[in-house]
Amino acid sequence: MADLRNEFSWSKSRGEVFAECPRKYFYSYYGAWGGWSAKPNSKERTLYVLKQLMTRQMWAGTLVHNCLRWILTTLRTTGSAPSEEAALSALGRRLQVDFQNSGEGLYWENPKKIPGLLEHEYDHLEVEDEAWARVFQRALEAITTFYHSEIFQTLHSLHPDDWMEIERLGQFEVDTVKVWVQLDCAFHIREGLQVIDWKTGRADLEQTRAQLALYAWYASQTWNLDPATVFPSEINLRTGETIAHQFTETDFERIRQTIAQSVAAMRALLDDVDQNLATEDRFPMSESDEPCHTCAFRRVCPKWATPADAHADE
Ligand code: SF4
Repeated sequence: MADLRNEFSWSKSRGEVFAECPRKYFYSYYGAWGGWSAKPNSKERTLYVLKQLMTRQMWAGTLVHNCLRWILTTLRTTGSAPSEEAALSALGRRLQVDFQNSGEGLYWENPKKIPGLLEHEYDHLEVEDEAWARVFQRALEAITTFYHSEIFQTLHSLHPDDWMEIERLGQFEVDTVKVWVQLDCAFHIREGLQVIDWKTGRADLEQTRAQLALYAWYASQTWNLDPATVFPSEINLRTGETIAHQFTETDFERIRQTIAQSVAAMRALLDDVDQNLATEDRFPMSESDEPCHTCAFRRVCPKWATPADAHADE
């Protein structure tokens, strides 16, 4: 197999991490590179393990998305969805197993297969049993909300040829930069293309709109569609609310500028733009302590780490 190369690319989450803290961005996309096969206790291995850690809300949201992907894929391929009971029971089991494994710290041995929770890794983030119970309950309620929603009926009525994407990692080019997107679900409707984004918690309206504008642009470019025929909607599985959006070329131009600025700021810190080489010290740590509170890299970040904290050999 050819050697993997750490190519420069952009995604909305990369842009957000960089804006939050350039050092965190370095740890995530350069320091952790190669950590999947690095020896235990090496710095890249430690960064790689820490990079996968999630807050309990992110973890539950990921499991709900995985469960929805399974339901939708089954629906697409067989014409009928698994029963609500089967979905709830599968999700309930997954929540229990992940929680147990994370509590035992097994993610240090197998971070790709075993999700790790920040609340288990860091004492200052520990929460009471009630907080865990709430997260479990909300995840299960999200699936129940889905089964009783209008969108479930719509998806049920689709012809197999109507389906376009279910959580597939997609990419397109913006000013020669590879941009990654992952649409939760996209399918044909009479008026054009419907794009769905599931929300499992409180959603920031502006951020969600920016995310959906990027998805609409991707859809418009990839399938050669008039933006007026792309209909992105966010469906909040906590509240049951659906918010429909619509975008134009002007919105796409705005995103292009945002991406260009973000890419320029990222590249300005690289040692070698062509080779995509970076060194840690060139990426400043956040001046504010706010993003540090739930940052997975506290254990190794010079702003917080003590020698006793570090899992990694320097
Ligand atoms: S702990 Fe704070 S300064 Fe360090 S990488 Fe994380 S967010 Fe940045």
